[in-house]
Amino acid sequence: MSLHEVTGVILNRRDVREDSRLYTVFSHERGKLEVFGRGIKKPKAKLGGHLEPGATVKLTLARGKSGETITAAERLYYPNLVMQSLEKLATLGFILNLIDCATKLEARDITLTSFLQEAIGRLEKLNDQKNQQARFRMWFAWRVFHLIGLGPELDTCVHCRKALTEKGIKFSPLMGGWLGMECWNMDDKALVVQAETRNFILVLNRNTWEEVELFKIENGAEKAAALITLSEMHHIMERRIPAERFVDFVRNF
Ligand SMILES: [Zn+2]
Repeated sequence: MSLHEVTGVILNRRDVREDSRLYTVFSHERGKLEVFGRGIKKPKAKLGGHLEPGATVKLTLARGKSGETITAAERLYYPNLVMQSLEKLATLGFILNLIDCATKLEARDITLTSFLQEAIGRLEKLNDQKNQQARFRMWFAWRVFHLIGLGPELDTCVHCRKALTEKGIKFSPLMGGWLGMECWNMDDKALVVQAETRNFILVLNRNTWEEVELFKIENGAEKAAALITLSEMHHIMERRIPAERFVDFVRNF
């Protein structure tokens, strides 16, 4: 039996059989993994308490015929304050789910793993006002689109690739990007987007949370950005995940 260690964030856990669990871990070393905690629900099991979704853990894994099993676990970080707020807990659920949906097994992405850890640390310190949490979730989603390279081009028309002008921009849910005026007829469900909303999305996509947090925007324009974010997630995720998981995902948002 060969043992090795990985460090990462627990994304999810599912009960399997009577006393075991299957954990999804987003690790620095190997990207997303699914590993078993055998007998972890037995009253005397030592591992269970360390392995909550959102925790950063160091795991010792043993490879066997039927997958990998956790033989030891050390909890390196746990967002305790997040657990005391329903609003923050919802945000944590959202970001863990988004990472789970946006990544494939065994695809290493150190930048994304580090970003996830950073975001959980920020969430821990954030206040739990509804609108700040909503903005934080939007920021997280746009940063992830950017980091995994699946996000839309924000400076060019999604159809003809021409540079966009200040005005006369629509968002196409169908194509998941901006349409310049010359291409409006490509999607008759496309929505006109105010310059303010578009600018906010650029900031969400490219800037740090400190800058996003201070960004001043009118309520209606922020709401429009939220709708575009949801539509963009739909567009990106639909190509990557099975439908039943997508439904879960949207509910979480
Ligand atoms: Zn165009």
